[in-house]
Amino acid sequence: MSNDPSIVPIARLRGEFACASTELRFLNQQGDAILRDLRRALALCSLFYVGFGVADILALGWRGAIPSILARLTWPLLAFLGLRHAQRAPMLAKGAFQAASVCTALGMCSYAVVVVNRPGDILLHGMSISLMSVVTLIFIPNRLVNALAIALGSSVGILLLGWYQHMVSTRHLISMSLLILFANLFGAIAANRHARLWREQYLTQQVLTNLSIRDPLTGCFNRRHLNAALLDGELARARRYRLHLSLIMCDLDGFKKINDTHGHHAGDELLRAFAELLRSMTREPVDTVVRYGGEEFLIILPETTLDGAVELAERVRVAFAQLAVECGGATLSTTASFGVVGADFARHQAVTPHALIAEADQLMYDAKHGGRNQVRGRQLGQNGGEFAQRAA
Ligand code: GH3
Ligand code: MG
Ligand code: MG
Repeated sequence: MSNDPSIVPIARLRGEFACASTELRFLNQQGDAILRDLRRALALCSLFYVGFGVADILALGWRGAIPSILARLTWPLLAFLGLRHAQRAPMLAKGAFQAASVCTALGMCSYAVVVVNRPGDILLHGMSISLMSVVTLIFIPNRLVNALAIALGSSVGILLLGWYQHMVSTRHLISMSLLILFANLFGAIAANRHARLWREQYLTQQVLTNLSIRDPLTGCFNRRHLNAALLDGELARARRYRLHLSLIMCDLDGFKKINDTHGHHAGDELLRAFAELLRSMTREPVDTVVRYGGEEFLIILPETTLDGAVELAERVRVAFAQLAVECGGATLSTTASFGVVGADFARHQAVTPHALIAEADQLMYDAKHGGRNQVRGRQLGQNGGEFAQRAA
């Protein structure tokens, strides 16, 4: 996702991200919150519907009110089934929206029984439908298009029923239609505004999160991301599925001299070029490039054997040694040294992040002491000698 919220378009009318995959990612992330809101909304709606059974009994007596009461009980039943469906659906948010749509659509249909059962109170039913349209649009979490179709469909249905069954005079029918129409309109506008604000807030959050975990100079991840999410996360996954995991620690050679000779700005340019090379030669987002220190970078390579990681480090080493960066009339170039550590979690479950990083760091220093511009690699857990040593 882009860093700039203004270039991730939101479809104005639908109130959703124009790009389907962005919308899907957003919904995936909001799944728990949507389910929580749905649970609360359906519980209150059930209370509202069933609670008004008292009015049915007062108007029609116990026996007369039976069809209404039965119709009203469909709400809690649908709510219960809908919530179970949402919890079991492969995608929580999509399941929640399906549950919301079925509950509100069938719930509104069941309300027709109440209307037919108490035809003398059609004006009260009109008020009830107005309220429920607003609730459907802004209180029960759902896609705006679904909610609008259900709210409008049930509103028109109740109006047609009242008109067809001669429950209401033309004068009252017009007033009732206007009331219901405007309730739908206000609800739809509020729902659209809410949907857009919710997505704008999400984008802003994404930008802030991205800023907090990226290094501003190189765009690589920073130590916060490494510590908080990545290493533990990838390590846990490797341990769980008994996978390989490799780390490359690399450091520019003689970088202080570049700064001293050409200035810090030139040094920054070379750092950026190195970071770009690392990112272009790894498989984002599977691999992760972290700026570990000043001119030190750490690459996390999930599901990668030591052989593969050493091969990658060697390719980066050669490419960087051949790279020349033009800056302020000067041509900058240097080399880098690499320490590569591999861990096979099928054989060694107890490997810690600290041990992996310490080993990669040690190997990188071995490469420095060995003359720089070289790759040193070792399999963690093997006490034997170094796996690979390559010097230019
Ligand atoms: P070696 O080959 O042993 O790694 O030597 P070196 O000169 O690369 O390493 P040393 O640790 O002596 O110096 C690292 C230098 O990197 C010192 C520091 O000023 C510079 N540096 C660290 N961060 C930055 C940065 O963000 N920009 C620039 N321009 N320089 C930086
Ligand atoms: Mg250095
Ligand atoms: Mg260094």
